Amino acid sequence: SKMLYNDRIMERDNLIDIEDRGYQFGDGVYEVIGVYDGRPMMMGEHMERLERSARELRLMLPVSTAEIKNNLEKLVETNGLEEGIIYLQVSRGVGSREHAFPSPETPAVTVAYTREEKRESDVEDQGSTAVLAEDIRWLRCDIKTLNLLPNVMAKQKAVEKNAVEAILHRGDIITEASASNVFMVKGGELYTHPANNYILNGITRRKIIQLCDELDLEVNEQTYTVKDLLNADEVFVSATKLDIIPILQVDDHVIGDGKPGVITKQVLQAFRSLYQHNVKY
Ligand code: PLP
Repeated sequence: SKMLYNDRIMERDNLIDIEDRGYQFGDGVYEVIGVYDGRPMMMGEHMERLERSARELRLMLPVSTAEIKNNLEKLVETNGLEEGIIYLQVSRGVGSREHAFPSPETPAVTVAYTREEKRESDVEDQGSTAVLAEDIRWLRCDIKTLNLLPNVMAKQKAVEKNAVEAILHRGDIITEASASNVFMVKGGELYTHPANNYILNGITRRKIIQLCDELDLEVNEQTYTVKDLLNADEVFVSATKLDIIPILQVDDHVIGDGKPGVITKQVLQAFRSLYQHNVKY
C-alpha cells in the first residue's frame, strides 16, 4: 500500500533521513485515526489535537490541518482501506544534529500510512487483564509526541504477563494506561483522571464522556488511587486502536465479579452504535 510523504502519495520507500529529528530525538507529534467503512473517524478531533500538540512543541505544521485531512482521505481512498487505522506523524524536519531547533526555514516532515486492522470484538466482549506499572513519563503527557519509551517499557511488561495493558500510576494516583485511557466504575458512576498534563486526552475518552452524558451516566473527571481501582466494580480502557476493553483483573486482583460490568457493556454498545449505524462522527 502507498504512503503519504509531505503532500505526495507514493510507494513506501526509504525516504527518512538519518538526521530526521523524529528519528534522532523523537522530536515530533503523531496521531492514530480509526477508519471504518472507508471513512476516517473523528477526523476533526484528531486534527485539532495534532494542531495543539504541534503548537505546544513550537513545531510549525508545514500545511494547514484542512490540507492534511484532505491528503489523508486521498491516502485512504488510494489504498482502498475499509477498516483499520491511519498513522500520521510530523517531525521537526531534517538538520545537522543539534538539540536546539534547526533554522526556522527547515520544513517539518509529514508521513502517513494506513494499516488494515479488524476491531477486536472478542476481546471487547470478553474482557482482558492488565498489570500495574509506575508512570515514569515526563510532565507533558498531554502532548502526543513521538517520545514513547516509558510507554514501550510498560506495554512490554503487560505483554509478558499476557495482559492487554499496563495501567500507570504516579505514586498513588492512577493516570492512564501505556496506550489508552482508564475508566473505573464505583457505585454506578464513572471515574477517570482529569484531562491535564498527566494524561493524553484521548479522542475515545472524550467520546465516551459525551456518550455517558447522553446515557445519563455520571462521569467524574477526578483522580483516584490504586486502591480505588483495585476495589472498583468495573474497569475499562479506551483508545482508537482498542475501542473499549473491559479489564477483569489487575495484577492478582479480580475486579468486581470478574466479568465485564453492566455499565461497561452499556458504554461499549453505545460506542459501537456510532459506527455500526453509520452515524456521522
Ligand atoms: N493515552 C495514551 C498514552 C495513548 O497512547 C493513547 C492512544 O494511543 C490514548 C491515551 C488514547 O487516545 P485516543 O483515544 O485518542 O486513541
